[in-house]
Amino acid sequence: MSSSNSNIDGFHWLLDMVQTLDVGLMVLDREYRVMLWNGFMENHSGQPAAYVIGNNLFEQFPDIPKNWFQRKAESVFLLESRAFTTYEQRPYLLRFKNYRPITGTAEFMYQNMTLIPLLSPDGKINHIGVILYDVTDIAVGKQALETANSTLAKLSRTDRLTGLNNRGYWEECLQVEFARFQRTKQLSTLIMFDIDHFKKVNDTYGHQAGDEVIRLTSKTLQSSIRTTDIAGRYGGEEFGVILIDTNAEQCQYLAERLRKKIAALNVGFEQHEIKFTISLGIAEVSTAMGDHAAWINASDQALYQAKHGGRNQSVVFTG
Ligand code: GH3
Ligand code: MG
Ligand code: MG
Repeated sequence: MSSSNSNIDGFHWLLDMVQTLDVGLMVLDREYRVMLWNGFMENHSGQPAAYVIGNNLFEQFPDIPKNWFQRKAESVFLLESRAFTTYEQRPYLLRFKNYRPITGTAEFMYQNMTLIPLLSPDGKINHIGVILYDVTDIAVGKQALETANSTLAKLSRTDRLTGLNNRGYWEECLQVEFARFQRTKQLSTLIMFDIDHFKKVNDTYGHQAGDEVIRLTSKTLQSSIRTTDIAGRYGGEEFGVILIDTNAEQCQYLAERLRKKIAALNVGFEQHEIKFTISLGIAEVSTAMGDHAAWINASDQALYQAKHGGRNQSVVFTG
């Protein structure tokens, strides 16, 4: 076989492979007319090469973001160097359905794109090659990982029994709020509260009944505050609530409403009906406090007074 025959064979083989390659290939001229449209593009767009070749890309596919694509392509013509885009910048050039069974959660095919300058025999760049890679597996995998990470982060901030913020995270929020006050001098108020004679609930009805009382207290708390307020489980049967942009007087109004709601609850456990109360300590943030711990301490002192004053009451810290 002569060498020119083997060159022609090689050319045909290459063409065959281009046709069947699992990557999208097209060639565009300066006027954005499609000059090459491989099998991948035919299969995924549903448009055979005979319908597409010779036509303007943007007229054939009006959904393509024309300005964005042209800007990329013009730089390839001008600079005679490659350009890349990833699915994170733009999920796809052409909206193709995603058929892959493993990545069935994606509605469409995520694509990375490479644009390459193609040299003509006259030594000029009159065409560009567009290569589309199906990166749906990578995109879906990354999304799943991000979802798992944010679920994990949420779990690590949440108290298991109540679904409230756990102590660690809640204290971080309090610290942030304290720092905000130091910057802006915008008032916030802290409530610390504690279930009265909770030991008796455990001793009389058992630990599970105690858990149910804690859960119901949390639920009542959550339904009584605004979404901007930050509630946390501080300890066993102790809770903290940060009320943003609220002074002590407004806060006591909420504290009293919560106290009464809880005193009116009947917790059904097995054949028992359990009634219980809470005591609350309220402290407005102040410039006299050196850190967030001093703020907790002020609320705690007020809570202590509420306990000593006979429980089932709220007390505002007065310094
Ligand atoms: P006071 O009115 O002074 O607050 O009395 P108290 O009995 O509520 O106070 P104390 O702090 O002595 O008792 C709290 C009890 O809460 C002790 C502990 O065994 C119990 N406890 C802490 N965490 C949990 C929990 O997650 N579930 C249950 N069931 N009990 C808990
Ligand atoms: Mg208690
Ligand atoms: Mg306690």
